[in-house]
Parts: sequence; C-alpha cells; structure tokens
Amino acid sequence: MSGLVDRYGRVHRDLRISLTDRCSLRCTYCMPADGVPWLRSSTLLSTDELVRLTRVAVSLGVREVRLTGGEPLLRPDVVDVVAALAALPTPDGPLDLSLTTNALRLPALAAPLRDAGLDRVNISIDTLRRGRFVELTRRDRLADTLAGIEAARAVGFSPIKLNALIMRGVNDDEICDLVSFAVERGLEMRFIEHMPLDGGHTWRREEMVTAEELLAVLASRFELESLGHDGSAPAETFRIAGTSSTVGVIASVTRAFCDRCDRVRLTADGQFRNCLFAREESDLRTRMREGADDAALASAMQACVAGKRPGHGIDDPSFIQPARPMSAIGG
Ligand code: SAM
Ligand code: SF4
Repeated sequence: MSGLVDRYGRVHRDLRISLTDRCSLRCTYCMPADGVPWLRSSTLLSTDELVRLTRVAVSLGVREVRLTGGEPLLRPDVVDVVAALAALPTPDGPLDLSLTTNALRLPALAAPLRDAGLDRVNISIDTLRRGRFVELTRRDRLADTLAGIEAARAVGFSPIKLNALIMRGVNDDEICDLVSFAVERGLEMRFIEHMPLDGGHTWRREEMVTAEELLAVLASRFELESLGHDGSAPAETFRIAGTSSTVGVIASVTRAFCDRCDRVRLTADGQFRNCLFAREESDLRTRMREGADDAALASAMQACVAGKRPGHGIDDPSFIQPARPMSAIGG
C-alpha cells in the first residue's frame, strides 16, 4: 500500500482531527453569534472510530496528528482520545501529538493531557484586553484563557505557541504587545492571516492585515532575523534579537504554502478532506459504519488525496468559500 501522495508529488504526513464542532467562544472571524447548525450527535465519530481511522492514516504514512475543532477540550473524552492516539504505534515511534485550543479548560485538563501523552499545545489569543476579548469572542473569558496559558506552562508543555489573528481596526494595535507578552513567558507568538472561512461570510480580501503589514509593524519595535520555514511548517519564523524567542507569521493568503502542504483533515463527523478549502469530502464514517475494511478506508483516503487541487485559489475570481465554517472543518 503506497502512501498519501497527490498528483503533484506532495506527501501527506500531518492529519488534523476535529474532535467537535462545538465551542465555548464565538470568535467573530470563525463562528456566527448564534444559529450555528451543529452536527448531529449520531454522526460524530466515537473514540474507537476516530482511532481506527487514524491507524489507517498512519499505515499510509501519517506521523503527526493535531487535535482541533471547534474547541477540542469540550469533547468529554478528550483525555481518552489523546491516550489512545499516543499509544498508536508507527514505524518511527509514537505519533507527534499536539492540540490547538482556546485554553479555557486547560486549568483542569493540562496535567491529565500531558500524562496521557500530549506533546505540545497551540493556544489562540487575539487580544490582552478584556473588553476587546468580549467583542472578539462574544464571551467574557479572557481571565480563563490567561489561566489556561499559565496551566500549560506549569505542566511543562514545550514549545507553547500562541496564535493570533489580527484584524484591521480591531486588534492591529496589539501586535507588539502580544509579542512582548509571549517573549516574557518564553512562548512563541504566531500571527495568522485572516482566511475566508468564517461562518458569517464577512471576509474581505482588501480588509485583511497582510503578513507584509504585520512584519512592518514588528520591525518597528523588534530586530528580526528570518529563520525561514521549517520543512512543511506553514509559519515563517523570525528570531527576535536580544531574546531567546521567535515570532512566526502564517501567511496563508498572501504567501500561500500550498506547494509544500502535507496536511489532510478529518472532521468530527468522519469526513476526510484534502484541504481546508476543499469543496468535496470523502465520507469515511458512512463507509466504516457500512462495514468497509481498513484497506477500503485506506483507498478512500488515497482517492481523496489524489483529487487535491494545487492550491486553495483564494485569489482566483472563481473562488468559492467551503460550505462548512472553520469551526466545523477543524482549524
Ligand atoms: N478552538 C480552538 C482555537 O481557537 O484554538 C481550535 C479551533 S480554531 C478553528 C483553530 C485556529 O483557527 C485558531 O487559532 C483560530 O484563530 C483560527 N481561525 C479561525 N477562523 C479563522 C479564519 N477565518 N482565518 C484564519 N484563522 C482562523
Ligand atoms: Fe471557537 Fe476556536 Fe473558532 Fe474561536 S477560533 S470560535 S475558540 S473554534
């Protein structure tokens, strides 16, 4: 059985698994305030189903798994999922297992997750100001996010990366403050370009803050030395002179990294996707529940990857935003 290789020779080793489409926040760039059409619980993968599909993906060369959502820590059995995935053997040792979270539940879960075998966490935080946090996430939970960051540090996750999405006129005056906050705590700040994946369909190309603008603001306060990209990693990282810290910029729109993309995705309801922006999915849940064996599931994954387009095409006039919002795909 060969691996997950597409028509352009890209080899896929990184699987992003969405554990739930539910979330404790309602970030404006991700979810509408209300009226979200939730996935039906009968369609959600059980832990056994999710682990089985991951095992099949591992047999096709996947070596890195990132758990995401929605908010992955809202899944009641998230610690069991981590333990089961951490125990999955690969020819190269254990999976590289990480999680992207808004951190609200980390004070309770950081230690059990680390003990279950989680290696790393990425935490999303777009502002350090309480009022602005409320506007951005529609919830008054900044203190919980900050407590979650401290909990992650206390149990020794390393590295801890902080992700921020900067929007013009919303939080673009906090770029340097966020970097200072991260540097003071030995964390890596990363900025993500805003992508057209919001449930409310509010994205406008001309309104997004570009990587170039971000870097110009950073250069006004910090002396940066480019370290380039680490393999297929989406972030371009920069060493900050006078510190042991780095800062990263994920320029998904203006400096797309599709040509070296090694990611595939599994949604909480068992749909396999070859791209965040894919308009088609491969329904592994139905196949599995109708009795498909591992070889058939592997073939379905390979066929899905074979159909991967060369790039996301955000800049093409024909670009159509995927039907699912980011929260239901898994960011
Ligand atoms: N709830 C978790 C969190 O916020 O970290 C995990 C899921 S969230 C969808 C994962 C990441 O996607 C977050 O860092 C978030 O900022 C990012 N994200 C959400 N919507 C986005 C968009 N429209 N463009 C770019 N990044 C987005
Ligand atoms: Fe929830 Fe994460 Fe989306 Fe914010 S970005 S609404 S925390 S899934």
